[in-house]
Amino acid sequence: MEKTIYKNSVKAKRGIKFSGSGLEDIPLQELVPENCLRQDDLNLPELTELDVIRYFINLSRQNFSVDTTFYPLGSCTMKYNPKINEQLAALEGFAETHPEQGEDYSQGTMELMYELQTALAEITGMHKVSLQPAAGAHGEFAGMLIVKKYFEDKGENRTKIIIPDSAHGTNPASAMMCGYEVVKVNSNSRGQVDLDELKRLISNDIAAIMMTNPNTLGIFEEDILEISKIAKENGILLYYDGANLNAVMGITTPGLMGFDIVHVNLHKTFSTPHGGGGPGSGPVGVSKELADYLPVPLVGFNGEKYYFDYDYKNTIGKIKPYYGNFGIFVRAYTYILMMGKDGLKKASQDAVLNANYLKEKLKEDYKLPFDLPCMHEFVLSGDFQKEQGVNTMAIAKRLMDFDIHPPTVYFPMIVSESMMIEPTETESLETLDNFINVMKQIAGEIKESPDRVLDSRVKTPVSRVDEVAAARKPVLKA
Ligand SMILES: *Cc1c(COP(=O)(O)O)cnc(C)c1O
Repeated sequence: MEKTIYKNSVKAKRGIKFSGSGLEDIPLQELVPENCLRQDDLNLPELTELDVIRYFINLSRQNFSVDTTFYPLGSCTMKYNPKINEQLAALEGFAETHPEQGEDYSQGTMELMYELQTALAEITGMHKVSLQPAAGAHGEFAGMLIVKKYFEDKGENRTKIIIPDSAHGTNPASAMMCGYEVVKVNSNSRGQVDLDELKRLISNDIAAIMMTNPNTLGIFEEDILEISKIAKENGILLYYDGANLNAVMGITTPGLMGFDIVHVNLHKTFSTPHGGGGPGSGPVGVSKELADYLPVPLVGFNGEKYYFDYDYKNTIGKIKPYYGNFGIFVRAYTYILMMGKDGLKKASQDAVLNANYLKEKLKEDYKLPFDLPCMHEFVLSGDFQKEQGVNTMAIAKRLMDFDIHPPTVYFPMIVSESMMIEPTETESLETLDNFINVMKQIAGEIKESPDRVLDSRVKTPVSRVDEVAAARKPVLKA
């Protein structure tokens, strides 16, 4: 394993040397109050520039990335990020722009934001979109704040949000953070919201139903129109977690399905690099009725000039410093323009085709709990393999021996030993076939000799971590 950069430190090594400034040397004590002065030396590693470069390049080579390996991490939409996105985001006028430079000097960047708002509204079938939220979960949080303010203004005291048991963990977390009680609705044998149970849960206490469609099993909710009808009849808002938009964009919209509030993960569907914590972007869109609640500012256009529009009378306010993660907007907008309307639709269709191809081939060797046509992803269970002594975690590790990033494992939690596989549209038939062959080989190895799979050399710097110890006694400091 790579040592920390501190361990490579050699006293007095330097990356750069500054020549003297020519200014008078004033002792620090004369400039900085005593209580603000550091007592001990600052503990920084001492290295040459080349040491630092090698250190970080070698660290990066120990990583998996979509630019190096197949990365079928379900729910995360690890599609290829076209490099033209980066080229345009690096244009001086975009990269060097400053949020304080004022509207008159920001018309180009604001036009891009305006056009992106408009494009996202069309893609989602929403009336208006705010680009403020910094990630999907942040979009959910904004959405829940909108729900809350909307009912407060109506004088209705609704305290609960219905969320399916297959939902991403951020859904209940966002609802709880806004003070809501979460009511779980179970999935039926077809991996979809159980309509009868949902009907039983409906009451005047329910503020919203949060759904993902297709859901996290990769299955399209066939009753969605019925569900939205029930919601409307009972004055309940319908929230769309847009993380799976890559299955439906250009084909249908959350608006057509009857949703009132939507977030979009630009870093998933619209091909901006993600993983490792960001930056992301999670614009939130709403129906006409809720437009006045959006987080401000939006970018408006008066026919002559773009302006930051704070004039939303019921706004939940500002939820991000300045205007959102602008660099991500440039990448997403570039992607949308490059793809065009037909291209986005084709991307969804190919994503769905690729997932169904993998599903049909892999269900010969792995348990497929919901054997229905899938959308852009599907969920297998490692139950058969576990019975033979190898759990899903070990299968995930073994995949890395073949230079394949494992799928999402142990989520969604309603499937035991789950493996959530999302190939995306950007992978070739050869890559998919290679994945199929590797998965089949691993299934064969497990049948023949489970111990060999468990003992297999894992190429990663850390072979198998002791997960229990890692959780109970985390070492947080080098
Ligand atoms: C990724 C994801 C989220 C959260 O989005 P972030 O951008 O990671 O905050 C929410 N729901 C689902 C289904 C997701 O896949």
